[in-house]
This record gives sequence, C-alpha cells and structure tokens, in this order.
Amino acid sequence: MASDASSPITQDVLTLPRKLPAEALTNLVGLTRDQMREALLGVGTPEKQVKMRVGQVWQWLYQKGVRSFDEMTNLSKDYRALLSDNFTISLPEVVSRQVSDDGTRKYLVRIAGGHEVEVVYIPEENRGTLCVSSQVGCTLTCSFCHTGTQKLVRNLTAGEIIGQVMLARDDLGEWPEPGRNPKDETRLLSNIVLMGMGEPLYNFENVRDAMKIAMDPEGISLSRRRITLSTSGVVPEIARTAEEIGCLLAISFHATTDNVRDKLVPINKRWNIEELLGALKEYPRLSNSERITFEYVMLKGVNDSDEDARRLIKLISGIPAKINLIPFNEWPGAPYKRSDWKRIKAFADIIYKAGYASPIRTPRGEDIMAACGQLKSATERARKSRAQIAAESGLT
Ligand code: SAH
Ligand code: SF4
Repeated sequence: MASDASSPITQDVLTLPRKLPAEALTNLVGLTRDQMREALLGVGTPEKQVKMRVGQVWQWLYQKGVRSFDEMTNLSKDYRALLSDNFTISLPEVVSRQVSDDGTRKYLVRIAGGHEVEVVYIPEENRGTLCVSSQVGCTLTCSFCHTGTQKLVRNLTAGEIIGQVMLARDDLGEWPEPGRNPKDETRLLSNIVLMGMGEPLYNFENVRDAMKIAMDPEGISLSRRRITLSTSGVVPEIARTAEEIGCLLAISFHATTDNVRDKLVPINKRWNIEELLGALKEYPRLSNSERITFEYVMLKGVNDSDEDARRLIKLISGIPAKINLIPFNEWPGAPYKRSDWKRIKAFADIIYKAGYASPIRTPRGEDIMAACGQLKSATERARKSRAQIAAESGLT
C-alpha cells in the first residue's frame, strides 16, 4: 500500500526492526548454520529464502572474506541494510604481529573483555599451519608448559576461534579472487592445529562449532584431515571429538609411567595412561581417521631414557600412531631443560626401528616466543615479570 502525504508514518515502517546500538548487534562470525538461520529468521527473512541466505552470507564471510554487508552484492540493497541494522561482522583485534627469522608469524589478538591470546602461523614447504588458541589461559597446570602457569580466564567463543583463522588469512592476503577458490594444496593457510593456548576439549562446543565452519565447503573449506586437535587427555570427550568433529587427534602423552605423567600432565591423576589408551583405541575407528599423533616433549633426565622409548612403543602397540618428539622449549623460570640432541636422536631411533614415524619437531619461532608451550598473553607476562621484579627486590 502506497502511503500518502497525510499519513507520515505507515504501518510498514513501524514493524520493521529498528537499528540497534552497536553493542547490541549480533556478530555473525562463528554462528553455526542453525544459529544463523534463527538469527536471519528473527529479523524477518522469509522462511522459504532463509537456507539460501545462510549459504550466501557464509560464502561472503568465509570464502570471500568481506567485512561489510555493502560488499555482499548478490543480496538486495534493502536486505543488506536490514543485515547491517541488526548484525556485525567482528573479528578479534590484532594488537601486535611479530615475524620470526624463520618466517613464523605470531599475532597477539585482543578479544572482548580486553583479554588476549596468541595465534601462530608456521609456513612450511608444502603447507602453512595455523596454531589456534581455544582458551585464555588453561585450567590445567602441566609443569613444562608456559600457558599452564596462567589461570583460566575464559573460554573463547566459536567466533573468536574461527576469527583467528580469518585474521591470519587477512594478514597473508589470501582471500580468493572472485570466482577462484584455491585448492587446499595451494593455500598459504592449509592446516589448523588446536595447539595454542588452552585445552580445546574443555571448550568442546565452541571448538566444534568453529571447526565445523573451518571444514564446511561454504565455510573455510579445509579437509578434516588438515585439522588436528591436541588434548592433554580429557578422556570423556575423546569419543565425542571423533563423532562430532572428526578431525585428527594429537595426544600430549609425554611420559610412560603414571608416576611421571602425574607430575608432567596432572590430568593424568584423573584419567591415567591406561584409561587414556583405552579411549584412543576406539578413536580411529569412530572417526574413520588416520593415525593418532602422540606428542612427546623431550625433558632432560625426566622422560628421555631408552627405557622410556621402549615403554612408549609397548604402550601404544595396537594404535595406529605416529610419535612427534618435541624438543622442550624453554621459557623464563621453566623447571626443565631440553634433552641433548644426541639423546633425542637416540630416542627417535628406537621408535623408528619399532616401525613408527618419529619426526622431531623443529622448534619454530623461538626468537619471538612462538614455539609450542611458550604462549602466554603479553599482559600476563608483563604482570608476572612485574611481580618477579618486586619479589626479587624484596618488596613483597
Ligand atoms: N592443551 C592442549 C593443546 C595446547 S598445548 C594440549 O595440552 O595438548 C600444544 C602442545 O605443546 C602440547 O603437546 C603440549 O604438551 C606442548 N607443550 C607445552 N609446553 C611445551 C614446551 N615448553 N615445550 C614443548 N612443547 C610444549
Ligand atoms: Fe594446558 Fe595444554 Fe599447557 Fe597442559 S600443555 S597446561 S593442557 S595448554
């Protein structure tokens, strides 16, 4: 019905959703397909269009990397206005970016509430891996891990987790040209590892939802075999990881007796080596997955003997596995030393001769504290060093 000059406000105008203040807008980044469907229906998208609209918005966000509704040119002008009145497209803010001599990039990013997490990009010959954080701090206190010295502040949202992938693609300049969608092999960011700050299985739903977007053909579109989730061993969530995410699994194993593992990875007191291995035996079958990676940090005189190597082989027999030996990365105040290179080689050799791949992980980005287990938010680091300085000067 056309309005005439005598009725300045028509009924139509009154029922349109009004523009919300910026902080009340819903961020579309990180919503599952179902959540986005509900959100779009909620602002009046007709039921019979909504599936198509979700697909279109996903493609703009995750395949083309646009950051404003105006750029979503296959949506009508009115619909774009409706979206921008109700939603935002927000990513964590990059506070600093450091590039190591070896090309590793470390981003410090700020999330809502002013908290900070670190994200690391590791370029290699045929792939580029992004190491993503899932929590600010960690509830667990593995004694060799820098993050473990920082209390859990909060879980990251799905948007903050997938947002790390998006901001890295921004920095790498890797959003495809219109009409071109690069294959995994040619991508700069081709793999994701959930090995940054935090225990991903203690933030299961958000990690799952973010990884669903990473794997979705209309999302970031990475194969599930290019995503590896690393856990310290949250046994009850392992089967769920297979069923609901289906990515590859890495286990922070690090010791071959409960006695030593209790000290290194204290979650072992809750679920010991036997219970952990029991859950892992099921994993490849449940997720139709490839081998499980056993991560093993090499700590001088603690877990690096020939006997440990032989025990490790015995323990994992029957599990399709590869063993990733990680030379310990030192951090200020760490109570351990890295095993000597000769020792690491000898350990690797025993494992290799038993028929397992045993790559030694080359530490990357050590000069910028970006290597495994060195991550800790800068503010926390600063706070700690201030506390240390005060303690040393006898002020506390
Ligand atoms: N919380 C998860 C994922 C993050 S830690 C987990 O524990 O698996 C990622 C990997 O880095 C884990 O294998 C962890 O044990 C390892 N790591 C932690 N601190 C380290 C250090 N200082 N040197 C080498 N590896 C370390
Ligand atoms: Fe947390 Fe993993 Fe570090 Fe352990 S190794 S404290 S689980 S981040």
